[in-house]
Formats: sequence, C-alpha cells, structure tokens
Amino acid sequence: MKSKRAARPSTLERTAHHEAGHAAASFLLGRRVLSVTIIRDDVDGSLGVCRSPPPPVWLDPFWEPTEGQRPCSDGRKRAWIEMEILILFAGGAAETRFGGRRNFVGARKDRSSAINLAGLLYSDTAELEAYLRWLAIRADNLLKRPGTWEAVEAIAGGLLERRKLTGRQVRKLYKVGRENALLAVHARSRCPEEAEGGRMTATPSEGKKGRRKKGRRKKGRRKKGREEGR
Ligand SMILES: [Zn+2]
Repeated sequence: MKSKRAARPSTLERTAHHEAGHAAASFLLGRRVLSVTIIRDDVDGSLGVCRSPPPPVWLDPFWEPTEGQRPCSDGRKRAWIEMEILILFAGGAAETRFGGRRNFVGARKDRSSAINLAGLLYSDTAELEAYLRWLAIRADNLLKRPGTWEAVEAIAGGLLERRKLTGRQVRKLYKVGRENALLAVHARSRCPEEAEGGRMTATPSEGKKGRRKKGRRKKGRRKKGREEGR
C-alpha cells in the first residue's frame, strides 16, 4: 500500500523560499538586492544569504551630520527600520507559507537582527515586543499582496536552478513572477482557456544580455551590506 503522505520539502527548497522571501519583500518595498545565494557557509553556519546595500550612516545613534548633510528625522529613521524588519521577517514568513510550519531555528538570526533594530526605537521591552509582533503580521500580509507570492516562487525556482543569483537576475525573476500573476488574472477574467497562454519565462542567464544601461552607477559600491543568513 502506497503512503499517502506528501513528500516533505527539502532543506534546500525551504532555504530557497526563505531567501526569495527576503528578496521579494526588498523589491516590493523599494530596496535593492545585491545577490542571493542558497550555498551553505560552513564558517558562519548559514544556509543562504540575501545580500543588500549597507545601512545608512545616520542609523548610528552617535552619528552627527557634517556640513551639507541632512539631519536624520525620527520619521525617516522609523520608516527605514520598519522596512528593514519587514524584509527580515519576510524570509521566515515565506518559508512558513511554503513549508507549512515555522522554522524558529532557521529564522533566529533574522529575529536577532530585528530585535537590535527595534531597540533603536524602543527601550521598553513590552513596547518592543508588541512592535515586532505587529511587524511579523505585516510581513505575512506582505506576501499576500497580488503577485508577490508568484515572485517569491519565481526567485526560489531560479535559486534552486543556479544556487547563486546576482541582484539583476533576482530582479528579473521578481518581475517575471509578478507579470505572470497579472497575465493569469487577466486571462481568467476573459476566458478560462486563455489562463494557460501568454506565460512569460525567464532563466537567470537571460538577464545577462543586453542589460547594460548607459549611466548606470558602478562606482562607490560598498561590498558589505545586510546579510540575512538563515
Ligand atoms: Zn533570513
């Protein structure tokens, strides 16, 4: 007698969706992604990384603006921190949605980073915890926005194929995922038979050609940024 139990997702598949969740949330919130990998790092023990540009200098509580620099308002700082925490939580949220259960161990590093960031706004533990609970709900809901889950799946698929993607390749997959979701909605509204037609495909390698745009900034790129290992 055959077992009716569905095959459990592999660790690699879970990691791909976790990192894809970080990446999709970054684009959705207007942030850049430098690269995404699902390659195990034996030094820090992470299974994957979504690498982003470094945090702004004004996030440092001791930062003072020099001549010509704009002072950082509380609102600006709060908005940046909130987006960052949403991106951190979106990794675990995507993994949970894909795998069906929360991975508290895998998301530990993200949680710890989120606590550090929230600590820049709140010193009271009860306030801080309530704030993080609210942002965790918002991160779950972020993935329910139209086209977002399809973008996560497209990025995860690219990661499982290549293990490592550049920021440009990830952006391409994000767009393809969202556009396919939009095409499917339009097709369903017109005629059910068309729902399967008009689907766009992209492999990470397609993003390499003909993508160089004039005037794209290349200088001053700092190597180290946020890295949500899991
Ligand atoms: Zn993560």
